[in-house]
Amino acid sequence: MFLTISTTGTPERPATDLGFLLHKHPERAQAFSTSHGTAHVLYPEATAERCTAALLLEVDPVALVRRGKGKGRGGAPDAALAQYVNDRPYAASSLLAVALAQVFKTALHGQCRALPERAAEPLPLRIEVPALPARGGAELVRALFGPLGWTTVDVEPVALDPEFPEWGDSRYVRLVLEGEGLRLADALNQLYVLLPVLDDAKHYWVAPDEVDKLLRAGEGWLAAHPRRELITTRYLARRRGLAREAAERLELVRLAEADGLDVEDVDNAVDETSDTEERPVPLAEHRRAAILAALRAAGAARVLDLGCGQGQLVQALLKDARFTEIVGVDVSVRALTVAARRLRLDRMGERQAARVKLLQGSLAYTDKRLGGYDAAVLSEVVEHLDPPRLPALEYAVFGAARPRTVVVTTPNVEYNVRWETLPAGHVRHGDHRFEWTRAEFREWAGAVAGRHGYAVEFAPVGADDPEVGAPTQMAVFTRSGEEDGPRTKKQEEDRA
Ligand code: SAH
Repeated sequence: MFLTISTTGTPERPATDLGFLLHKHPERAQAFSTSHGTAHVLYPEATAERCTAALLLEVDPVALVRRGKGKGRGGAPDAALAQYVNDRPYAASSLLAVALAQVFKTALHGQCRALPERAAEPLPLRIEVPALPARGGAELVRALFGPLGWTTVDVEPVALDPEFPEWGDSRYVRLVLEGEGLRLADALNQLYVLLPVLDDAKHYWVAPDEVDKLLRAGEGWLAAHPRRELITTRYLARRRGLAREAAERLELVRLAEADGLDVEDVDNAVDETSDTEERPVPLAEHRRAAILAALRAAGAARVLDLGCGQGQLVQALLKDARFTEIVGVDVSVRALTVAARRLRLDRMGERQAARVKLLQGSLAYTDKRLGGYDAAVLSEVVEHLDPPRLPALEYAVFGAARPRTVVVTTPNVEYNVRWETLPAGHVRHGDHRFEWTRAEFREWAGAVAGRHGYAVEFAPVGADDPEVGAPTQMAVFTRSGEEDGPRTKKQEEDRA
């Protein structure tokens, strides 16, 4: 079971840099014990012009079957022989992907301390997988790797036996990928996801956190992939619940990444182009000031910023020492990456770093990590959810996380007639699923407060127009005093 990764270079940028990028020295053959056998990394060639690293996985089939059994996948007795006599040890497959992730973990995350700039930029790459089990055949292999930025995706069916061509093709293909537009980490992440997808092996163990792993590895390419559904269902070994969760989260990622623009930038663009005369301060700043004031008034110290986007509010919260714990949550990995960069998380002193955390998660799901905070902010987030998802968000925030204070801001659609650049009847950003009038917002917020034991107050944000109101509307929810912690399921049911 093996694959090779090659690159070319020049005397100034030698191909042997591949050794640094993979964190495996070209002059040493190395062996690693992985969960399914021994992985070897060796370099068949290593010159300044050309360098090839080979990853070879020597699978222990007996251990493999035992492992499978340990996880409750023994199967019927007559299947026992098939378990030993199979192609596992020879074919590139999910096991190779697991080994790849273990052996090249740092490279997979795009990190390289020795040559950080080379890890961050595309390089000439050639990947060869001589025996790739491909359920779906050569055509599916092309459909999967085709849209991912390679110049060449060469897929050749492998004959069952070259001596007897009339026997036809095996279920293996030889895959060669070539291109200059991808980073090493991109290539590794694609292989990590797509090898098991093509293998479609039943024994592949799927843990709940596989959805997170899939989204992380798929960052930047999976959300927009035309075969995304097949990839997620197969990767998650056809586990329906997980596949659905992945599908929903990916759809949100795709929407947030659409046009390469971030939602926040577009909102601000509207603010700034049409805001100059009366209100030189961009609306986003007004909003942050109003939110900070509400949090201070509530005496909150431990704060959740739900749908934190690129982290502007998190940054503002960090500047005030009264906020001792700040957690930014967003569904978009890209937004979180930008946020981490904005906050300089990697260069932050220990004290500061201890105050802030960024989490990936969807507000459409109850999340235990969000329990026990003083306050939660949903700034310009609710309008990004399809209305049928709002009850799920409502439960996750007001029913399960249940902080004492919740601050929600959202556009006031009545104000849209005052934006000169906004055509009549349009929402402020393509990803807004709806925009509410003041009455609609009050109705929703009032009902939510009633259902979950909160009191709610409203405030305009930005210049309050006598006719149409302010551009942003804010609601501050305060949990009624009698209970302290999150409600139990029973309490929730009694209420309902
Ligand atoms: N709060 C920021 C960003 C608002 S843009 C601000 O006020 O500027 C909306 C953000 O919500 C985006 O970053 C988007 O990725 C995120 N988002 C949308 N739906 C989400 C969901 N279901 N779970 C978590 N975040 C979500």
